[in-house]
Amino acid sequence: MRYSALSLLRGALSSHRNWQPAWASPEPKSAYDIVIVGAGGHGLATAYYLAKNHGLSNVAVIERGWLGGGNTGRNTTVVRSNYLFPESARLYDFSLKLYEGLSRELNFNVMLSQRGQVMLAHSRHDLESIARWVNTLHMHGIDGTLLTREQVGALVPALDLSPAARYPVLGGLRQPRAGTARHDAVAWGYARAASRLGVDIIQDCEVTGFTTGADGAVSGVETRFGPIRAGRVGIAAAGHSSVLAGLAGVRLPVTSYALQAMVTEPVKPRLDTVVISPGTGVYVSQSDKGEMVIGGSLDLFASYAQRGSFAVMQSVLAGTLAMFPSFSRLRLMRQWAGIVDVVHDSSPLIGPTPVPGLFINCGWGTGGFKAIPAGGWTLAHVLATGRNHELAEPFQLERFVSGRFIDEAAAAGIAH
Ligand SMILES: Cc1cc2nc3c(=O)[nH]c(=O)nc-3n(C[C@H](O)[C@H](O)[C@H](O)COP(=O)(O)OP(=O)(O)OC[C@H]3O[C@@H](n4cnc5c(N)ncnc54)[C@H](O)[C@@H]3O)c2cc1C
Repeated sequence: MRYSALSLLRGALSSHRNWQPAWASPEPKSAYDIVIVGAGGHGLATAYYLAKNHGLSNVAVIERGWLGGGNTGRNTTVVRSNYLFPESARLYDFSLKLYEGLSRELNFNVMLSQRGQVMLAHSRHDLESIARWVNTLHMHGIDGTLLTREQVGALVPALDLSPAARYPVLGGLRQPRAGTARHDAVAWGYARAASRLGVDIIQDCEVTGFTTGADGAVSGVETRFGPIRAGRVGIAAAGHSSVLAGLAGVRLPVTSYALQAMVTEPVKPRLDTVVISPGTGVYVSQSDKGEMVIGGSLDLFASYAQRGSFAVMQSVLAGTLAMFPSFSRLRLMRQWAGIVDVVHDSSPLIGPTPVPGLFINCGWGTGGFKAIPAGGWTLAHVLATGRNHELAEPFQLERFVSGRFIDEAAAAGIAH
C-alpha cells in the first residue's frame, strides 16, 4: 500500500481498519546471501540499499530487540554536514543530500525539517575557529555562514546575549541546510521499504556468535534460534560493535559510552533552529511537539548501562540555563541514554574486517543519525561488490595501522 493523501482518506472512511503492517515479520530462513546484525538505522538502510542499488534481496537483518530500539530511537535527531575534514565533509554531505530526498524515495515522511543549525562562538578564539570552519565548508561546497552577535540574536531571540552572561555570545556559524528529522520514522521508513523489496527483518533474535568455514571465512551467525548461514555478514550494532566483533576474534578500536538526552514539557514555538554551544557542550532544539530537546556531553567512562549519570545531566542543564535563562521555568519530562561507539579519532569505520566475509559499519559515536543514509549506502556497496565505496575508503580499520587518522573531535559537535 502506497501512503498518500488518498490512502489516508480511505483509512478514515474505513475507521482505519484497512492498514497493513508496515513490514513483514517472517520466520528466519536457514540461509541468506547476506546477514546484517542490528536493525538500527544503519543496518536497515544497508538492507534497503542492498536490495535497491544492487538487486540483492536474499538478505536478513537480525535484531536482538525491536527495530530502531537502539541509538536510532534514542537520539536527538540533528542532521547536518558541517564537518571539518574533506573526507568527512564529503561523506556527511552525501548523507544530507540523501536525507533531502528520503521521504519521497521511501514513501514515508521522515519529517526532515531544515531549520538550520547555529553553533555559538563564546570567545575571540571561538570566532577565529568558526571563521576558519566556514572557509573550509565553502571549499567543500557546503553551505555555511558566519553570523555576527546581532544576527545570532535575531535568529535565536531566547538566547541570553547580555554582556554579563556566563558564556557571552560573540557570533556563530550557521548551516542553513542542517536541521532535524524524525528518528523513528527513518528506521520505520527504511524497514518498510526494505521489507517491500523482499528483505527479512527478524526481531527479538540475538546474534550470539559467528560460524566460520575451513578457510577461516565467516559462513554465518549463531542466534538464539539456531545457526543461520550467510555468504557475507555485516555488523551495524553501534555500542555493541566491539562485543560482536570480539565474538569473531576481531579487536576494534572502539570504546562504548553512555550518551544521554532529555526533553522538557512541551511549550509554544520558542526556538526554530538547532543551537549548539561547543563551549558548554550543550545543544538544544524544539521538537514538533513543542518539547525542548536537550543533549550534551558523554558520560566519560566506558559503560553499557543505558541510563546516564546524574552529574552529567546536571552540568548539561546548567549549560542550557546559562544560555536560555527563561527555560528555568520548564519542567523536565524525560531523560534517557544510549550506548555510543566512539573511535579514538571520532570518525567511523565502514568496510571489511580482518576476518574474510565479515564487514563492519560502526564508530559513529555521538553523530551517526545524520549518517544513516550514507552509512547504509556504503556498507551495502562493500557487502555487494567486495570493494569499498570511494566515500568509505578513508574510513577503514587499516588507518589504525597506517596512522592516517581523520580527527573530527572538534566537528563532532559535543565534548568527547
Ligand atoms: C542520546 C543520544 C543523542 C544522539 N543525538 C544524535 C544527533 O542529534 N544526531 C546524530 O547524527 N546522531 C546522534 N546520536 C548518535 C546516533 O543515534 C547513532 O550514531 C546512530 O543512531 C547509530 O545507528 P546504528 O544503526 O549504528 O545503531 P543502533 O540504532 O544503536 O542500532 C544497533 C542495533 O544493533 C542491535 N544489536 C546489538 N547487539 C546485537 C546482537 N548481539 N544481535 C542482534 N542485534 C544486536 C541493537 O539492539 C540495536 O538495535 C545520538 C545518540 C544518543 C544516544
